Amino acid sequence: MRFLPALTALSLTTLGVAVASPPATAGGSTALGPTATGYGGAVATVDANATAIGLDVLRRGGNAVDAAIAAAAALGVTEPFSAGIGGGGFFVYYDAKRRSVSTIDGRETAPASATERLFIDPADGLPYDFAEARVSGLSVGAPGTVATWESAARKWGTRPLSRLLQPAADLADRGFTVDATFRQQVADNAAAFGQFTSSSELYLPDGAPPAVGSTQRNPDLADTYRLIAKKGTGVFYRGAIAEDLVETVQNPPVADDPIGTWAYPIRPGALTEADLAGYRVRYPDPVRSDYRGLTVYGMNTPSSGGTAVAEALNIIEKGLPRSSGTTEKLHYYLEASALAFADRNRYVGANTPDRVIRRLTSDRWAGQRECQIDPGKALTKPVPPGDITARGCTPAPAGGPAEQGQSTTNLTVADRWGNIVEYTFTIEATGGNTMVVPGRGFILNNELTDFNFAPTQGDAPDPNLPGPGKRPRSSMSPTIVFADGKPFLALGSPGGATIITTVLQLLINRIDLGMTLPEAMAAPRASQRNTAGIQAEPAFRARYGPALTALGHTFAADVPELGAATAIEFTRRGGFIASSEPSRRGGGAAAVVHPR
Ligand code: GLU
Repeated sequence: MRFLPALTALSLTTLGVAVASPPATAGGSTALGPTATGYGGAVATVDANATAIGLDVLRRGGNAVDAAIAAAAALGVTEPFSAGIGGGGFFVYYDAKRRSVSTIDGRETAPASATERLFIDPADGLPYDFAEARVSGLSVGAPGTVATWESAARKWGTRPLSRLLQPAADLADRGFTVDATFRQQVADNAAAFGQFTSSSELYLPDGAPPAVGSTQRNPDLADTYRLIAKKGTGVFYRGAIAEDLVETVQNPPVADDPIGTWAYPIRPGALTEADLAGYRVRYPDPVRSDYRGLTVYGMNTPSSGGTAVAEALNIIEKGLPRSSGTTEKLHYYLEASALAFADRNRYVGANTPDRVIRRLTSDRWAGQRECQIDPGKALTKPVPPGDITARGCTPAPAGGPAEQGQSTTNLTVADRWGNIVEYTFTIEATGGNTMVVPGRGFILNNELTDFNFAPTQGDAPDPNLPGPGKRPRSSMSPTIVFADGKPFLALGSPGGATIITTVLQLLINRIDLGMTLPEAMAAPRASQRNTAGIQAEPAFRARYGPALTALGHTFAADVPELGAATAIEFTRRGGFIASSEPSRRGGGAAAVVHPR
């Protein structure tokens, strides 16, 4: 998250933005606060620049789709290590007039030449280390973000993509002020960035991360956005940008005089121009489930987000009386999450048949899984996946691996007509594969490392091995919840596999624990992804650890923070509560068109 540049073209006061905290000095506070309430439309992102740009689109009569695309393009400038046109994501749209929820799957695809052994070192037959696989051409999938924006703008927007890219192009030219989060993200990637001419030029000025308070500009990215605006998205998938992208993958721009050392060889990838030219977004039906009288729409495969959130909610609804106390509610949240993760790992990948998804998200399946939860004692983790061919309570042996990550970004937008966009997009790791495409100003994704490198399910088939043209399984969980057919809450988060638990916990906080949305957002988080120890923020363990430990839960080492969510709640009278993080990742930025 960044704060606003000193010379912003947008004046916040003329925009009518509620300024909830004073302008930032250094270290990551924002001129826009984490919460805004009011009418006329709302935007929540992790970054004040992106939120201001999205809000400006709404104020000028654009709809939620227009604003979401403009804000996303801005995030590509100010959050370049989390997301951008070098990556992919999932776009969920509620059309108020049609009262329907649609999705765009803009996930990256593996090259046509990829096999199950994509990440197996031919020299020794063993999987590569994660860092070796990540910082390589092998990890790069054909990016889906540009095609997602184009498709959303054409289908549901009211402005051409060319126009929506302009504010972000201007922002990239003008620059923004480096805050502590940005500087740290560069520092964490410095060894890898230093290997590449293009990445060190952009992010290691004078051989070191940029100073907090300095201005970060990216004229190459500005030109790239303008080129796409002028020539259309074909230039990205079949034209000059495609050529440069493929060249970067096949011949990584390794420096003759690298800054620092990198422990691994930098391997080329096999992505081709044909892979890029063949890239298509998909329009999967959303995953739909019910929870305590509400209807929950989430992302279908290749994300596991919608399925896992739906399964866990169904399990909780089945077993947890509404009247139970906080400890019991958290106990069910953790147990249901572990069970859902076991099933996700066993069954969910890009090619999972619809009938399996329907089964996993059915109330009957929730019953077969919930029966294992003991209200008085935590299950031993990892729990085994259920057997979807069985009837009745279904336990079995062996669990799956846990994944994590802290990249990605999420945004939530609603307009005065009631349309909603919930959009999560990413380049996978913070810093992606660390290669800036020379002359183009954007970093490539390492999304293909979301595949399992080797089978994880014992004798059972692994649904998430690499394959030709295949999309790696995601955890991204853009979610929209309805009450009596009307929008109630839209939310999403980054955080790798913890995305699922963050979205789930936000829902439990809001719906079961009765917190307000800003309280639910601020509350300390914990993540049980079917591992022996729960990953928790220190404040969660301090507050709930003793009671949960007494039930048999165990905690792994604390993690400083989980997720960086954004959300909008829809009030009965047509108002909005836009909500972002008060402090995680430096704090987010929420705004409404007409503040109350
Ligand atoms: N690549 C991850 C996914 O699709 C997201 C990465 C992250 O949030 O750290 O689930």
